[in-house]
Amino acid sequence: MEFNYVKKYYNVPACLGRIVKVDGKSGVIVKDCGHYIGVNFDDDKPGFISNCHPTWNVEYLGIGSIRNQPNPTAYLDFNVWVDCPDCNASLNITDEDDGNFTEKLFGGRWDELQDYDVYCDNCEYEFQIEKVEY
Ligand SMILES: [Zn+2]
Repeated sequence: MEFNYVKKYYNVPACLGRIVKVDGKSGVIVKDCGHYIGVNFDDDKPGFISNCHPTWNVEYLGIGSIRNQPNPTAYLDFNVWVDCPDCNASLNITDEDDGNFTEKLFGGRWDELQDYDVYCDNCEYEFQIEKVEY
């Protein structure tokens, strides 16, 4: 059972979601930390846990709610390269993409990328790609 240790040795009503005041700071117990109680203070971000001594200046109050740590958003970073047939410079197609390219790429419509226009910054040559591979 959770919080066995602190319940047994300190005789405190520790449980998940219990509102506590530690040294005057409000928080909620969010984790059994063995000899300690893991408290998420209201002033801290959700998911941030402080190990607190079960009896040192702790007031045990009612049951509150544990704030959720939001899951982070993942960001995709990618490049598509082509060598200019005229000057051989490596061009990143995604650099100047107007959305047309990525839309087709991520829409799985790779066939439509055939003849996609590319402009070379280096030599000002304009050409089309034959296909995209990965
Ligand atoms: Zn070029």
